[in-house]
Amino acid sequence: NTSLHEFDPAVAAAVDAELHRQQSTLEMIASENFAPVAVMEAQGSVLTNKYAEGYPGRRYYGGCEHVDVVEQIAIDRVKELFGAEHANVQPHSGAQANAAAMFALLKPGDTIMGLNLAHGGHLTHGMKINFSGKLYDVVAYHVGDDGRVDMAEVERLAKESRPKLIVAGWSAYPRQLDFAEFRRIADEVGAYLMVDMAHFAGLVAAGLHPNPVPHAHVVTTTTHKTLGGPRGGVILSTAELAKKINSAVFPGQQGGPLEHVIAAKAVSFKVAASEDFKERQRRTLEGARILAERLVKDDVRAVGVDVLSGGTDVHLVLVDLRHSELDGQQAEDRLHEVGITVNRNAIPNDPRPPMVTSGLRIGTPALATRGFEAEDFAEVADVIAETLKAPAPFGAADADALKARVKALADRHPLYPGLNK
Ligand code: PLP
Repeated sequence: NTSLHEFDPAVAAAVDAELHRQQSTLEMIASENFAPVAVMEAQGSVLTNKYAEGYPGRRYYGGCEHVDVVEQIAIDRVKELFGAEHANVQPHSGAQANAAAMFALLKPGDTIMGLNLAHGGHLTHGMKINFSGKLYDVVAYHVGDDGRVDMAEVERLAKESRPKLIVAGWSAYPRQLDFAEFRRIADEVGAYLMVDMAHFAGLVAAGLHPNPVPHAHVVTTTTHKTLGGPRGGVILSTAELAKKINSAVFPGQQGGPLEHVIAAKAVSFKVAASEDFKERQRRTLEGARILAERLVKDDVRAVGVDVLSGGTDVHLVLVDLRHSELDGQQAEDRLHEVGITVNRNAIPNDPRPPMVTSGLRIGTPALATRGFEAEDFAEVADVIAETLKAPAPFGAADADALKARVKALADRHPLYPGLNK
């Protein structure tokens, strides 16, 4: 019963340092968020001790009466939240949700279509050395010159390659997809439509983004991005596919479910059904719009900084640095220096190598969770613009002034105040 601090000071110190990093900097990685304390409490509970292979009411282990309750609550809540006929809440992550969904619907060697990685797709949508690229024959579609998915290309490729599955979804794309059009094309070629809403699930839950569930055979998601819950995955499907999906997750891909994480998922679905959550997602979108508007102004354009597709409809902005002296790595480092965490990102037709890139992906979900309002986002946007505009070399004096503005914002919206030791 020894506490972490007593038993393992080395690990405890790193955890404390990470808490301090999250509290004192501005987190703008588009796939990150801050889980509520109640979610972390469920995730840190005794449910971590329980084996529960199988599903509620049909387990391969004794003593599952309480985890059955928890898992059923999670299933019922997420079905209600997204209007789905069936839900599997056991995937350990988004990648495992996608692996299981594909395992349920495909045989090795079948053809799938997904958005090219450098155009905003995810590794699991057919990247060469990912399981999806190794097991399946991949035909990638792309965004056009306007930065939007080229639906004419999707239709042409689908008719040529007759895929068994079309994946619609993204990790770095600032616009909404036309799910009805994807489904029309899928139906025309006899393909399943799988939507991976990992990034925008929170916006969907809040009713601020079209819901893919009525259009897709299968919808996968993570629970830790805009949705703001514990790290994990979920698969939603039609009732018809329920059995296939369940057996693909267990025993197809996984052993025992992480019932402590499933409890935390259940809590996060309760949060996601609340008015506060809607309001937070509204501020998330507003923040991204404010940022995009700042980063297309003349002063940043003059140094070659631009915004892909000219703006955003979601929780992130993709900054185009192809014409800037700063590459993605340098821009990420500069922002890190002033206390803003983002990630560099390859962009379509990127002339720089993948470890350097000519893009930045900047997201607003974590700051919205922290309580940021429009005026705060305007200040962050200005700090980012000034950081990217500053001439090289980026000196300590430039960084210090901007750092002070970042600190003022962080102080205005304290994070996890109760967790400080
Ligand atoms: N799907 C999409 C669209 C993603 O962006 C990600 C993660 O970034 C995943 C799936 C994978 O999720 P995880 O990191 O939980 O495996």
